[in-house]
Amino acid sequence: MTEKKWVYLFSEVEAAEKAVGGDWEDVRALLGGKGSGLADMTRANVPVPPGFTVTTEACNAYLNADEKFPPGMWEQELASMRYVEGATGKKFGDVSNPLLVSCRSGAKFSMPGMMDTVLNIGLNDETAKGIAKQTGDDRFVYDAYRRLLEMFGEVVLGIPDEAFEGPMDEYKEEKGVKSDTELSAEDWKNLVEKFKVVVREHLGFDFPQDPYEQLRLATEAVFKSWFGKRAVDYRNAAGIAHDLGTGVNIQTMVFGNMGWDSGTGVAFTRDPATGEAIMYGDYLMNAQGEDVVAGIRNTEKIANLEKDMPAAFQEFVEICDKLERHYTDMQDVEFTIEQNKLWMLQTRTGKRTAKAAVKIAVDMVNEGLISKEEGIIRVQPDDVDTLLHPQFDLGAIEAARKAGTLYASGVNASPGAAVGQVYFDADTAERMAKEEGQDVIMVRPFTKPDDVHGMLAAKGILTSEGGATSHAAVVARQFGVPCVVGAAMIRIDLEKRQMSVDGNVVKNGEWISVDGTTGEVFIGQISTIAPTLEEQTDLLTLLSWADEISATPGIRTAPDGWPTTGLQVWANADYPADARRARSYGAVGIGLCRTEHMFFEQERLPTVQRMILADTSAERKSALDELLPFQRSDFEGLFEAMDGYPVIIRLIDPPLHEFLPSEEELLEEVITMRVKGETLGLAEKEDLLDHVKALHESNPMMGLRGIRLSIMMPEIVEMQVRAIFEAAANVTLKGVHALPEVMIPLTGTVNELNVIQPSLEQIAKEVMQDKGVEFPYKFGTMIEIPRAAVTAGEIADVAEFFSFGTNDLTQMTYGYSRDDAERNFLLKYVEDGILPKNPFQTIDRDGVGRLMEMCVSEGRKNRTDLEVGICGEHGGDPDSIEFCYSIGQNYVSCSPFRIPIARLSAAHAALKYKGVAIMTDN
Ligand code: ADP
Ligand code: MG
Ligand code: MG
Repeated sequence: MTEKKWVYLFSEVEAAEKAVGGDWEDVRALLGGKGSGLADMTRANVPVPPGFTVTTEACNAYLNADEKFPPGMWEQELASMRYVEGATGKKFGDVSNPLLVSCRSGAKFSMPGMMDTVLNIGLNDETAKGIAKQTGDDRFVYDAYRRLLEMFGEVVLGIPDEAFEGPMDEYKEEKGVKSDTELSAEDWKNLVEKFKVVVREHLGFDFPQDPYEQLRLATEAVFKSWFGKRAVDYRNAAGIAHDLGTGVNIQTMVFGNMGWDSGTGVAFTRDPATGEAIMYGDYLMNAQGEDVVAGIRNTEKIANLEKDMPAAFQEFVEICDKLERHYTDMQDVEFTIEQNKLWMLQTRTGKRTAKAAVKIAVDMVNEGLISKEEGIIRVQPDDVDTLLHPQFDLGAIEAARKAGTLYASGVNASPGAAVGQVYFDADTAERMAKEEGQDVIMVRPFTKPDDVHGMLAAKGILTSEGGATSHAAVVARQFGVPCVVGAAMIRIDLEKRQMSVDGNVVKNGEWISVDGTTGEVFIGQISTIAPTLEEQTDLLTLLSWADEISATPGIRTAPDGWPTTGLQVWANADYPADARRARSYGAVGIGLCRTEHMFFEQERLPTVQRMILADTSAERKSALDELLPFQRSDFEGLFEAMDGYPVIIRLIDPPLHEFLPSEEELLEEVITMRVKGETLGLAEKEDLLDHVKALHESNPMMGLRGIRLSIMMPEIVEMQVRAIFEAAANVTLKGVHALPEVMIPLTGTVNELNVIQPSLEQIAKEVMQDKGVEFPYKFGTMIEIPRAAVTAGEIADVAEFFSFGTNDLTQMTYGYSRDDAERNFLLKYVEDGILPKNPFQTIDRDGVGRLMEMCVSEGRKNRTDLEVGICGEHGGDPDSIEFCYSIGQNYVSCSPFRIPIARLSAAHAALKYKGVAIMTDN
């Protein structure tokens, strides 16, 4: 039996592919993102320093075996070292020509800064002398050695960073120097000795001089870091599984700090903030990798590298281009130039803002690099949400500038507007956001992986150090948090919990406004506005492709009569203005118009109340006659706005008491009048109070409302149906294509529909006859009571369409009243995992969803072309939209502002379920 392979050379990518069965995603899982990228680049003849990857499987085996290397792993690691020695002509631990390596973690998904790299492994007192002799550069060697002591001490041996920073600062102060560049070879030598003492004092043993011991300890440290707190926190926040494990990459060191013909940098192949197709990044001459990210020295823009090192730059541009075409996506790369020779150290798909995600997807489709389908998949519904989120009102910004509240400016690292109260550490920021419900801005000199929880809780992030590729910037972009970094004029005093610019102090808890789009920071609260969709041309293009996908005939595999194009997106709109907006956002129907909103308007409410309080049917009818013209003109506006598209109008739904003053309020007024002896109007008030008392119900949600109210008091819905059809007839005569659909709420049994629907249809026919016009129309019902879902077959015999009211359906399926549940226990349920999600935000597929699925298929058994949609809040939730697609609904209806998100989600669902037959009970 051949031994299990735990280690793959970078040049063995084919063997790795074979081991996992050929799928690249599985290679990434086995070698990790960094390792598979290095191997893939090696295969493509990109210059990569030789090395190898210890697999994620080895990591898991180690962690599952009480932290012992699996049998054979260490021997394979040693054998691979032999290979690297051969490839480089150097020898690990050799005194005259020593090989140095880095040890780098890398899991399947990149976790910026989560697990730390150790550079210069293989240096010790002897090899240091060897390299010094080889290079003739003592300063370089002892700088590298003290870096190893520091990194190894912190990352592998767990010594706190202050333990090294303290002696270093002291030393510099003694010498009277500010910057590291002023330190000489002798200084670094002295610091090496001081750092050795730090290790000994902290651990009681010496820094391991044996290179193999260094290698072994470093490998183990990477394995262990998989379950370090910050890695676990990050995975929880990003939804990454905990059983993937990390790979360990051992790679020949190359040096960007070997003089002024060397350098190092990081770059994105496109601008990760805007998506523009220009190279974006920073580099430093004569520096080692971490210096760029750490923001210790001021970096240069990548474009300037062309002047500094034309040949290397040219090669770099060509490699970037090749990598982008190979991966067909924007890449985030690391490189080092050692004495004019370019080396690539990492490539991965670059994180980007929502804006960049959309632009890059659209551009790459237009460049022929990816298909429209791929372009759609690359953009997430959340990205669209972010793009439609508030930005600062330009007028308000101008005013703030004039008022002199511009406080500082830095690098615009992650766009968007954030207004909040400042806190200077992650724990406080998180606490204030979560416990006090405050809008929080987290301010730090720079951020580290331990700060991520505070950054996620914050509305915005501000740092005084670091650049566009610093930790704060990368994390902020990934999570869509507005962020300004490197606002160098700000002095942060962590002890006093305040910051200042030229003596202008902002304290803990004070308000600031951070503009991640421009990089500016203002004191106080600046008002924001929602951006318009029309301005976002790339997004509009992308959404038009999404609609094309959804509208493709046959994209959905479903039984005869069921929709075989994708899910349509309709809107909930009560007024013509809402309908117009909905249409401009791409809605192709109105799924819910709530007529009672029209009753609440000031001039109408008294008439509505008179109608409710009427003692006879004749009195009631006369009040309703007054309301009819109002409703009719509202409906005319809706039909005109939605010319050619269906408009579903729901008949009155809430209990009548909602249109009357509250009982307590009235009682108080009556008592006050009686006490004061006022008589004018008292009798009317008392009468009203009696009526309100008579309407009192102990559980109005389950009382006289919806279809039940219509049966008890048919005059209201009769008026409404008349208004709907008169309106439709009037606009039809004007040439508008009206498609009214009358929706009866809260049906529980088909018998209810049998009582009310025929008489309403009769009114519809009469109106059309009187007006002498005909147009298509439908009568249907909402499905919000579990019994209706269960008896959907019978109900479909009468109703021509169903619309899920998933708010009520969820309430009644769980037996929760939403307000009470969300106030009293739902949060705890979700936190404790009793419920996976808030079922009022995302459809509970197992319970409520099961009812819906059954309802659709039972309904279509009796009426094949039954139109089915959803009009609850869930209609704008991506996960729920996918579910609605999967059970064969015709459309989702959501608030106008969610329409772009719903259109993208519907296309995602269509692509995900392409070729998958819908399950039916048939
Ligand atoms: P991270 O995942 O935090 O980016 P990396 O493993 O990529 O960690 O390494 C941190 C820094 O060290 C990067 O700038 C990287 O380019 C540099 N680096 C890693 N390995 C080497 C090496 N063998 N030679 C030179 N620089 C290296
Ligand atoms: Mg890296
Ligand atoms: Mg309802």
